[in-house]
Amino acid sequence: MRNISLLLLLCIYLSIDISFSLSSSLFNGKIWHITDTHYDFLYQTGGDTTKQCREVPGKKTVDGIVYSKKFENDNNNKNNNINIIHHPNDTASAVGSYSCDTPYELLISSFEAMVKIEPNPDFIIWTGDDPPHFETYQLNQSLVLQSISNMTELIKYYFPDTRVYPSIGNHDSFPEHQIPIGPNWLFDAITEYWSPFLTNSSLETLQYGGYYTELVEPGFRIVSLNTVFYYTQNKQCLNLTDPAGQFAWLNSTLYQAKLNNELVWIIGHVPPGYNEKYDIYNFHKQFNDIYLEAFSDYSDIIVAHFYGHEHSDAFRLYYDRPSMGEDFPTGIMFLTPSLTPWQNPWVPAPPNNPSLRLYHYNYTDFTLLDYDQYWTNLTDNIKTNEINWMLEYRAREFYHVEALDHISMYEAYLLIEQVPEMLDTYKLYNSVSYPSKGCDDVCKRIQLCSIRHPFVKGFKTCLVSV
Ligand SMILES: [Zn+2]
Repeated sequence: MRNISLLLLLCIYLSIDISFSLSSSLFNGKIWHITDTHYDFLYQTGGDTTKQCREVPGKKTVDGIVYSKKFENDNNNKNNNINIIHHPNDTASAVGSYSCDTPYELLISSFEAMVKIEPNPDFIIWTGDDPPHFETYQLNQSLVLQSISNMTELIKYYFPDTRVYPSIGNHDSFPEHQIPIGPNWLFDAITEYWSPFLTNSSLETLQYGGYYTELVEPGFRIVSLNTVFYYTQNKQCLNLTDPAGQFAWLNSTLYQAKLNNELVWIIGHVPPGYNEKYDIYNFHKQFNDIYLEAFSDYSDIIVAHFYGHEHSDAFRLYYDRPSMGEDFPTGIMFLTPSLTPWQNPWVPAPPNNPSLRLYHYNYTDFTLLDYDQYWTNLTDNIKTNEINWMLEYRAREFYHVEALDHISMYEAYLLIEQVPEMLDTYKLYNSVSYPSKGCDDVCKRIQLCSIRHPFVKGFKTCLVSV
């Protein structure tokens, strides 16, 4: 009798377990977030790491152009007082270099890894920055367009039947960062390249302003914004209050989505708020708070925001109004780290290891369940000349949360604030497990305040109060 009871219990346990895993997989959708690939078609194995790995001593550059003299001259002229930071003991291996952008082997290995881990994502979000970090004189419109076109074709090649939702990055232009309102040569080109991914009404707004919205499923909408209009390095829209009418369009799009009972994901390249890596604001100050307030009446329908740009791994909470900073947040933004490991030579910030991120969401209510953060250890790869992609961490497990909504991530923030080991690990993951020197009091304040206070006023107050 006792054996029968035990068997019954075991059956119930197993059936619960089986039904749980069945139901969780049945309702579990997956998407890749590709961002900041920065593939450098001039990368040369053995290249000089102080010259972006584009020159091998005693050998002509790939395109036959010798620009090292000009590179040095320009740097000397422009930046007399700035120390250029070179990564110590770095070499331009075939698999990459911390001083340089993504070489061909790393780019291809990342796509091979994605199709091995999840070959059939429900869709892909792709938040831009395809060209390498060139100096302006090394770049032109044609090279920028070639970079965007190449990346479009590469994504289509590896994921031929997958829907793709792109956004434009600050490097997807010439001169870099400079994107005026449309129509212009850039918007004309991306409208053509991305026409297989988007509906006609999206292509219309894309051509005028680089933004669009698509209904992914009934009840589930993606809004792709051109946040480069607000970026501090973009001088084209400084005198405009609403470049290309994007704020007005966003408001009417969200209003209509609410009427239609749709849930919304926001995607874009440059995130608002404070850049914890470079210790600067990402947006011109006149745009930052207006941008955040644009979402304030729609916190009940916006699931999350997805950005790239900083090349680092972070998240941000936001509030309906800046004055609500002391209360519970009403929204959540995730920043996905880059594929490129490139260390900015002008700013004292660490490089990062190359990254890939797979999000999990609920098919039926479109909420965010989890993400898997993948990485490859470039330090090891340089020694072995191989590229091994590994799981770095799972968000739910690391943050000790049940889901990735703003309430759960606020609890995660409190853990990071209160448990020193959590902040240490958060900081390590910030650079995709590239070991940094630790985080002093100022660094801790910047990390915590950038998570909790994307509003300009809230951030300033937070810096002196944490
Ligand atoms: Zn980038």
